[in-house]
Amino acid sequence: MRIGVLGYQGGVYEHVYMLRRALEELGYTGEVLVVKKPGQLESLDGIVIPGGESTTIGILARRMKVLEPLRDAIRSGLPALGTCAGAIILAEKVRDRVVGETGQPLIAAMRIEVVRNYFGRQRESFEADLEIDGLEGRFRGVFIRSPAIIDAEPPARIISWLDHDGERVGVAAVQGPHLATAFHPELTGDTRLHKMWLRQIKR
Ligand code: GLN
Repeated sequence: MRIGVLGYQGGVYEHVYMLRRALEELGYTGEVLVVKKPGQLESLDGIVIPGGESTTIGILARRMKVLEPLRDAIRSGLPALGTCAGAIILAEKVRDRVVGETGQPLIAAMRIEVVRNYFGRQRESFEADLEIDGLEGRFRGVFIRSPAIIDAEPPARIISWLDHDGERVGVAAVQGPHLATAFHPELTGDTRLHKMWLRQIKR
């Protein structure tokens, strides 16, 4: 398997490290590469869009002429894992909790609606034990200025929820081979979520 990690900004090498471990634990042969140029999109079996700053990642991807071909590839079925800022970039509908419409460059491949910085200032960063459909036991969710997934339309489906201020919001969603998480599975040392994604995209 050939897995790319979009490499402009954010938790790029954390994902590279986790993916290599996950591949090894699954007994899959494969390589993980950092993607920055359009030519590197060829013959990928999956792409990870890391957490960081979604506006920055989107603008750099557009400037490097990667955004359009990546969007086409993901929309035609290249499996994508987007974490935090990556989930924002994969979403069809995005707004910011404070500034509203962002008009930022997106890939918009998943029928989910996300609100950036949903958890606000007072809870910018926190951790929570999550139940995730398809995973045994709990998963430690690390949230850093995370978005919430406030809606999903089929074929997208929310697979993990979090109670926050009396509201129940989505924090992970799937759509076909795509997986979006509001939290950072690459910061936990727990490879189960990466393995879940790799297992279902293995051809
Ligand atoms: N707040 C960031 C954004 O809106 C996401 C934060 C993160 O990826 N940790 O893009």
